[in-house]
Amino acid sequence: MYLFVIKDLHEKLINQEIASEQLTSDYFAKIEEKDPEIKAYLSLNKEFALDKARAVDKKIKKGEEIDLLAGIPFAVKDVICTEGIVTTAGSKILENYVPPYDATVITKLKERDAVILGKTNTDEFAMGASTENSAFQITKNPHDTMRVPGGTSGGSTAAVAADECVWALGSDTGGSIRQPSSFCGTVGLKLTYGTVSRYGLIAMASSFDQIGPIAKTVEDAAIVLGRIRGRDPRDSTSMPTADKNFEDGLTGDIKKLRIGVPKEYFEGKGLDPRVREIIEKSIQKYKSLGAEIVEISLPSGKYALAAYYVIVPSEVSANMARFDGIRFGQSIGAESEKTGADYTLWDIYFKTRAKYLGREVKRRIMLGTYALSAGYYDQYYIKAQKVRSLIRKEFEEAFQKVDLIIGPTAPTPAFKIGEKMEDPLEMYLADIYTAPANIAGIPAISIPCGTIEEGGKHLPVGLQLMGKWFDEEKILNAAHVFEKS
Ligand code: GLN
Repeated sequence: MYLFVIKDLHEKLINQEIASEQLTSDYFAKIEEKDPEIKAYLSLNKEFALDKARAVDKKIKKGEEIDLLAGIPFAVKDVICTEGIVTTAGSKILENYVPPYDATVITKLKERDAVILGKTNTDEFAMGASTENSAFQITKNPHDTMRVPGGTSGGSTAAVAADECVWALGSDTGGSIRQPSSFCGTVGLKLTYGTVSRYGLIAMASSFDQIGPIAKTVEDAAIVLGRIRGRDPRDSTSMPTADKNFEDGLTGDIKKLRIGVPKEYFEGKGLDPRVREIIEKSIQKYKSLGAEIVEISLPSGKYALAAYYVIVPSEVSANMARFDGIRFGQSIGAESEKTGADYTLWDIYFKTRAKYLGREVKRRIMLGTYALSAGYYDQYYIKAQKVRSLIRKEFEEAFQKVDLIIGPTAPTPAFKIGEKMEDPLEMYLADIYTAPANIAGIPAISIPCGTIEEGGKHLPVGLQLMGKWFDEEKILNAAHVFEKS
């Protein structure tokens, strides 16, 4: 038996106690065993993966130095483009789409010789909070298969939680790395907006989207962060950053750290009392570890979700316009060649989108188009942008008093499959604690902090730590100290 975290596996690889080829085959065997039930993966990448693994083994045999991530199998959320590998974004419209290029994160990870096992399930175009909006399958929570893994990176978090990969990439627009991490008991890191290139990430809401790691430990998340970030000329919102090994910043010292507790986060009726209790205990834990706990107020936070659901659909409506039956993926026009139907250009737009896009995607296109239309633009879109500025400002002020902000990641543990599918507003509330970080662009992490027993199962609960812009190091260190304790 070997431990399935990055540094341990790396040691075994370089000491030649295991070969990457064996490790990779073992992971495929595990996937074969578990995934028929969990359904975390949409597609596997066996041939490429084993080729890569063998190449790494050769390097090791030759005594070449390899990166920490080299030869280690990971999974990729299916909204991230992979050259030559089908990338569906969980949507029928991209069912057969094979990108001719890699996303920048993938290029970076390939350069490090990381091994891609396959692509994981997601809500269609990353819209949702349970992975049930996938056009293909419903992923199960490995802790209780009657429940959702959370979303939209539910495939990636379930794969990590079931050890069907060592770590995974997800994307977070309003909580999609952290909320499913909370539900699945994984570590999920949403980075400062601009940290990782969005080139090759199929866009949902461009001013919110950010790729990030999902892992079993804080250290693993830190290792990945240092290797995927950086300026990319293909994404003008990416920031220049110096090389840095975040794993070296996990000093274990949090004395003098000031942690803010927003009082509003505990006032709402929606917070499950069992979650509240675990979060309160976790805050006490930080106190006993030497941190100073300070009550703060983020009064505009209560408008975060409302602003989010105006701005995000607005950006969605623009980003989805490219799926028009002409440029990408499925088209009703292609079918008409078989049926002989004589479609106009308008028919092709309307019928393709009607047939191949799911309900939630259509709902958002309509919401966004409405919010951006003449007459409503000022009332909705501009208003929501003003709220966005206000929320940002409140975070700025809070971070003058504290180093980090702590609270729950999600208001409840994982809910049952089907429970929220009929009520989109209920589903939206799952991100009440995570969306503010995306609105402000700040980094945040979810780490496991306890479990709730229900029906004989132990449902994980996540603790969220938010930090200042580009202060990932502090978040990771504080999270690491908690994890170790
Ligand atoms: N649940 C949120 C939404 O549906 C967040 C999704 C995400 O982060 N991709 O918009």
